[in-house]
Amino acid sequence: MARFNERFLDLKESYLFSEVAKRVSVFKENNPDRDVIRLGIGDVTLPLGKSVVQAMHAAADEMGKAETFRGYGPEQGYDFLRKAVAGHYKEIGADIDEDEIFVSDGAKSDTGNITDLFSADNTVLIPDPVYPVYVDTNTMNGRNIVYMDGSAENDFLPMPDRSVHADIIYLCSPNNPTGACYNKQQLEEWVDYALENGAVILFDSAYESFISDDDLPRTIYCIEGAKKCAVEFCSLSKTAGFTGTRCGYTIVPKAIKSLSPDGREMSLNKMWNRRQTTKFNGVPYVVQRAAEAVFSPEGQKESKAMTACYMENARIISETMNELGIRYTGGVNSPYIWFECPFGMDSWTFFDHMLEKAGVVGTPGAGFGKNGDRWFRLTAFNNKENTIEAMKRFRKLFE
Ligand code: PLP
Repeated sequence: MARFNERFLDLKESYLFSEVAKRVSVFKENNPDRDVIRLGIGDVTLPLGKSVVQAMHAAADEMGKAETFRGYGPEQGYDFLRKAVAGHYKEIGADIDEDEIFVSDGAKSDTGNITDLFSADNTVLIPDPVYPVYVDTNTMNGRNIVYMDGSAENDFLPMPDRSVHADIIYLCSPNNPTGACYNKQQLEEWVDYALENGAVILFDSAYESFISDDDLPRTIYCIEGAKKCAVEFCSLSKTAGFTGTRCGYTIVPKAIKSLSPDGREMSLNKMWNRRQTTKFNGVPYVVQRAAEAVFSPEGQKESKAMTACYMENARIISETMNELGIRYTGGVNSPYIWFECPFGMDSWTFFDHMLEKAGVVGTPGAGFGKNGDRWFRLTAFNNKENTIEAMKRFRKLFE
């Protein structure tokens, strides 16, 4: 009989979104006349930009003609897209070589797949609360996880603790779910700590395009030394509405090196390339042409307009929190608003309360780690009208 990977038994039941859906459906059954506004799931709602769709159409036409048809593409991504991504990095303050860029089908796969490259006896540092994929994928590999606590006291931006050694460090900035964003000085501290420990930082920048504050870094590579220790994962999911289209990119700098037990130098970039060429056959040509269009001047205009719509919703939610004197993070430089549950409730109790009294759905913080137990996430991914109405109902909870 095949023996399964028993580390899967160590995974916590992933019931967050299914439990949310279940409670919403029970509520709707019991209250068929009440309309429910969803500010819970982190999925975009605006359609792809016009120029992006045009590029997809043109690429689809190419695929339908013998002269321009394409079969398997390069596993690392087509040169035209790697070039466009390198151009984007230049604009946000970093020089990245095209052979350090790996086109992916999104940040979720790559943040999980990168664990293939590391030995199981590494100690991994993971913030709590955070996007749950880092914990789950390392649990599947049986790695020792050390949590770094995020709290109101550190603005949900945990900093290095020099008394703790780590080999792998996950950072997510702007963070999901807290919306908190590291500044340059804080990232410098993290890079110093990683270099001191010989550690690798796995930096998830899936929300970099929401950063509007010029002083905040949009890539870890604007920090000196980061190319020697940091891998960066980015995605067009939230930037350009690609959650259903699927395209992202991962930067694995050539300067990241490690020694094998027998003293041989190993290059992470080469290992990732070997891994990808073995297990991945690339992103569809049509999708890569659409992704290329995102980085064109017209595509950038479209993406910025989408982000502006979401950030207007974030402003409306933040303003409500300000008015009500509720502690929160995010809402600027991020589409997430992370607030302390009112009335001394825990996050699931507040979920039920807000659904029952206001007909508004959010995400209980407990789903992102133990430190989220008394916190709650709202997202800016709805339309303005619904967001205004949701906040009107939210205010009523306090009357
Ligand atoms: N990283 C973070 C922090 C996220 O919040 C998400 C999606 O919600 C992802 C990665 C996944 O992105 P993708 O759609 O590119 O797989």
